[in-house]
Amino acid sequence: MSQRILLIEDDRELRATLKESLSVEGYAVLTSASLADARALLQHAERHTAPELVLLDLGLPDGDGEEFLAELRRLSGTPVIVISAREAEGQKIRLLDQGADDYLVKPFGIGELLARMRVALRHRGQHNRPAVLRYQRGALDIDLAVRRVRRHGQEVHLTPTEFNLLARLVRQTGQVVTHRQLLTDVWGAEHTEQTHYLRLYMGQLRAKLEDDSAEPRYLLTEPGVGYRIADTEN
Ligand code: CA
Repeated sequence: MSQRILLIEDDRELRATLKESLSVEGYAVLTSASLADARALLQHAERHTAPELVLLDLGLPDGDGEEFLAELRRLSGTPVIVISAREAEGQKIRLLDQGADDYLVKPFGIGELLARMRVALRHRGQHNRPAVLRYQRGALDIDLAVRRVRRHGQEVHLTPTEFNLLARLVRQTGQVVTHRQLLTDVWGAEHTEQTHYLRLYMGQLRAKLEDDSAEPRYLLTEPGVGYRIADTEN
């Protein structure tokens, strides 16, 4: 069964191009050119026709995608990838904190979009399923269940805070996690401004896990937004 994608995009040309490219990849693509269209489509969707992933433009003729994200989040856990020409970091952070799964700035390559979609679809409804407990990529093997980290087969000793930070990223493998989300989940809600903790502990983790901590392959920085552990499948 092909997975159903709802593409909300008012640019006719981009809409056609994306629909074509995603259809070729085997996705069933529904499209809306406005928020009104998208709302109507979602209202009439049934369980077997509801989209499994939403690609959401922000600047739409009848409103802003950001409001729509909030509406959608109240109704369902359907993953949302924002696709926008706006690059403002503040907005990216806000959208991710409001529950967007990822964010792509136009113009983006179809390969990048497909990779992000695979990750988002894999995480879909993950609160109902066992969380990601194992991360294996290149030299790294992280097993959250037994709190063990190996690099090139050798056990790496992490402090509890280093481990908790790494585990938080692994649970959302391939997805960006904002500074606020990391600080809240690892240090607690009263520490959301302490971004220097993150710089310090990410530095320590990179020193222990990366071959070259100046050019990380696993622990990636999303400038001004947060961090992402590289997806295991790309
Ligand atoms: Ca637009």
